[in-house]
Amino acid sequence: MGWSVHGWVRYGCALVGLAAVPGCADAEAPGIRETRGALTEAPLTVSLTFDDTLANQFPAAAMLEAHEMRGTFFVNSPRLDRAGSMSLAQVKEMQDGGATLNGGHEIGGHSLGHHHLPELSYDGKRMEVCNDRADLLANGFTAQTFGYPFGDDGGTGSDAWTAIDDCNYNLARDIGGLNNAAGYCGKPPSNTSGSHAESIPPRDRHVVRTPASIGPGCTLDDLMAYVDNARLNTSGPGWIVFPFHNVCDGCSSNAISPALLAQFLGWLRGEVESGRVVVKPMRDVIPGLVEPAVIWNGEGGLLKNAALERSGSVDPSLAHCWQRTGDGLNRYRWERITGRRGSGLRLTISAYETGGRHLTSTQDSGACAPVNAVEGQRFTASAYYRSNTSPVLAVHYRDASGWHVLEESAAGRLPPSPESWASARLTTSAPVPEGATHVSVSLGLRAAGWVEMDDFRLTPR
Ligand SMILES: [Zn+2]
Repeated sequence: MGWSVHGWVRYGCALVGLAAVPGCADAEAPGIRETRGALTEAPLTVSLTFDDTLANQFPAAAMLEAHEMRGTFFVNSPRLDRAGSMSLAQVKEMQDGGATLNGGHEIGGHSLGHHHLPELSYDGKRMEVCNDRADLLANGFTAQTFGYPFGDDGGTGSDAWTAIDDCNYNLARDIGGLNNAAGYCGKPPSNTSGSHAESIPPRDRHVVRTPASIGPGCTLDDLMAYVDNARLNTSGPGWIVFPFHNVCDGCSSNAISPALLAQFLGWLRGEVESGRVVVKPMRDVIPGLVEPAVIWNGEGGLLKNAALERSGSVDPSLAHCWQRTGDGLNRYRWERITGRRGSGLRLTISAYETGGRHLTSTQDSGACAPVNAVEGQRFTASAYYRSNTSPVLAVHYRDASGWHVLEESAAGRLPPSPESWASARLTTSAPVPEGATHVSVSLGLRAAGWVEMDDFRLTPR
């Protein structure tokens, strides 16, 4: 490379472009001034983004404000007011101002449960992204920009990308994707042929590319060099979005120390004052409307094969991603039937003493069981049934010790409906406890009788 990152070269104002270079504003006085060399006339745009709703980001917002900067904070709505996370009041203050902050920061969405979106079903992705955004909007946030949890967007054309559109986000931030040829923050060189900066507008608004996540390996030189490299190797308006997580001294493998962040912000402020850099929240770089909330209630919600259309590969009398559960002394049988729409299932208990039998969405570790359980979350389960007795609908959750019933419909709550399809519905009042990872739903009997079932659904809240 012929250029030096921290070198200074001389340009005449006329060469650089008058409007873009402070110090050249006086066009009547052409002359030589010093500025760092750049292929681009426009200043580099820098966005400072912070993921995961972490409590230590509230003081970081104050640090940004001390340098006249505003950031983008990607919030998981269910984490608000939880231990270790920011409170709703704090995040409101970031956006709107209050006792500590002046406000003006962008609040974006980061999904309900912070899962790897590509691992979720089509509906699961939309529920994670849309329903989180709907919660943020309901709390007064604009939620125009999304940050993929783990920066995991699923790759080109993924249905995580289309979820961004379906949920009415304007913009989504990846993690990584930019040139890392010099090595960076202790990471080996990578992506040596990639762009040094995202373009404005971005190559694809579903995946705004960034440097790698900022961690303890980063030095002030790394951060400054990344900005300088981007300026020096980008033609046209360039954009660097830094993905920060924790702001603390060594509390995490994705932490930057408050001291280093302060140093970087101080340097960046000098760049801003010199006209080489502007710092903006992401939504101010690519302005867009605040689109309405979308609440996603896909066919089966979080469940796979919720309409029971696909037969089980092991037991064709069952449906794929569903299992029989039960206990006690009773004689029972299962049959595939023509259901409310397409296929359904029928359970008959012909002799009963104790226990019960249930059709349960498969309680595995994620292939069938939705991984959307997050502490504090509530769910609505529903199903259609015909029965000559009172069935029982339940929501279950999994933690390290196994599966447990979260809540079930009270005995006798669902009335017999032998002639027509009735809707069973249960919204849990008990939140999912700490340590929960997966959820499941079941419908069955605890008495002699029969029940036909079809068209299940499970949705967050
Ligand atoms: Zn995250």
